[in-house]
Amino acid sequence: MAKVVVLGAGISGHTAISYLRKDLSKEHEVVIVSPNSNYQWVPSNIWIGIGRMKPNQTTFPLAPLYKKKGIKYIQAKAVSFHPEGDSEINKGYILAEYVIGDKKGQTIKVDYDFLINATGPKLNFEATEGLRPGKNKTLSVCTYDHAMHAWNDFDALIQRMKKGESVKILIGTGHAKATCQGAAFEYIMNVEQELNRHKVRDKATVTWISNEYELGDFGIDGVTVKMNGDLVPSKDLIEMVFEDRGIKSITKAGVYKIEDGNAFYETLNGEYKTESFDFGMLIPSFSGHGFKAFDKNGGDITEKLFKGFMIVDADYTPRPYKEWTVQDWPETYQNPSYPNIFAPGIAFAPPHTISKPRTSKNGTAIFPAPPRTGMPSGITAKLVADNIIEMINNGNNKLHHLGSMGNMGAACIASTGYGFLKGRGVTITTNPIVPDYKKYPETGRLLSKTIGDLGLAGHWVKLTLHYAFLYKAKMKPFWWLIPE
Ligand SMILES: Cc1cc2nc3c(=O)[nH]c(=O)nc-3n(C[C@H](O)[C@H](O)[C@H](O)COP(=O)(O)OP(=O)(O)OC[C@H]3O[C@@H](n4cnc5c(N)ncnc54)[C@H](O)[C@@H]3O)c2cc1C
Repeated sequence: MAKVVVLGAGISGHTAISYLRKDLSKEHEVVIVSPNSNYQWVPSNIWIGIGRMKPNQTTFPLAPLYKKKGIKYIQAKAVSFHPEGDSEINKGYILAEYVIGDKKGQTIKVDYDFLINATGPKLNFEATEGLRPGKNKTLSVCTYDHAMHAWNDFDALIQRMKKGESVKILIGTGHAKATCQGAAFEYIMNVEQELNRHKVRDKATVTWISNEYELGDFGIDGVTVKMNGDLVPSKDLIEMVFEDRGIKSITKAGVYKIEDGNAFYETLNGEYKTESFDFGMLIPSFSGHGFKAFDKNGGDITEKLFKGFMIVDADYTPRPYKEWTVQDWPETYQNPSYPNIFAPGIAFAPPHTISKPRTSKNGTAIFPAPPRTGMPSGITAKLVADNIIEMINNGNNKLHHLGSMGNMGAACIASTGYGFLKGRGVTITTNPIVPDYKKYPETGRLLSKTIGDLGLAGHWVKLTLHYAFLYKAKMKPFWWLIPE
């Protein structure tokens, strides 16, 4: 009998535990340790943030589902890793702290034969002075409660505009090395659409601010897409969309401080500037959770497991940008020091960024961190689960299931308005996510699978994905037929 422990019931961890439970026989124990009581389909937070969905449409409680499926659920957060065990436990365990109920604050040792760390990112608001959801006129859509708060404030802003007030809206990245530009892009498009719907568009200046070198970088160094037979760089596509919507933009900007309605930022050419706003949604930097790891004797071995995020089978050798290759990216998400530990989704440490690193004249690094969106988070979780299942069933250590962001595709479908007939979407598919200039010298990507589209179809796809992925997450009949 084997025991598999998954940390984190987000997109990645929930995917992994679902496949583990489905494909491992009942003699094997599967356990999930996560502080959240609800599953949330994060991509739909955008619609909560504009008042078009309620949190109960994008979330569901985890405890009843896990009970029904025979998955042990410990509502706690991992605090430290002990991959060699200790004098009491002769195998790896994690120390977790209960976050709810009578045991709140108490710790528990959860031992395992295999461990999947799917704890995603820490939303590192503290890395930017004054950036806190609900403070200093800044909001967030990174969680469903943040998004609900954003909607309350956005709604109040709309009411002020209806009374004749003119306002400034600022949306983008709130840190020099933030990622997730796609989510901010989707939110700015939806906000702009809602202003039109409420007939107050003329009362608002809407501005995009980001650490991208140019528009459309999205943390993947931009992408050239095939669109109606033409090759269109994402920069041109996003510029066209912003121009069409009257959205201003500030790029090459590293936001370092927020004060009541003022964003202070440094530009790549070394200038320090300020942008004022009445409503700001700025994505924070994402970091690792700051976990510590200890050996059998209590010695600190954090550097064997973590480099901010968890160390996996990537090539972390520091090299200049022009020497980066797709082979640097991990394929199994297995920790090299402890082969029974894996980290799919956002929890793994990337070998480097995808966008070109750039430094300001003052020496500040201003460029996007690499995104790990929902699709690769789900795919990497499934392949990790499949490898563990094979290792348990076949009693060997062979990893047959591989998937690198250098040979995996992703679809970014940004809804740009809500409604069956009035919704629109900007669809960008990219394959691979990390450009491979050796294989595809022209643009770094396979053009037949790197496509752009603008229109109602993208919105419908996004809405369909909302329902399909919630169906899958609820493990309803034949859920596994829906791909990641
Ligand atoms: C607003 C927004 C919109 C987005 N839109 C899209 C989109 O349209 N398409 C797309 O592909 N991607 C989108 N993304 C990205 C997508 O949400 C992420 O790629 C995905 O959530 C990453 O999955 P994950 O499981 O690695 O991390 P998460 O989903 O963040 O899950 C991490 C889990 O770990 C838990 N956890 C945290 N700390 C601990 C701990 N100490 N111990 C145990 N558990 C812990 C958390 O509670 C959480 O359940 C969006 C992201 C945001 C913020």
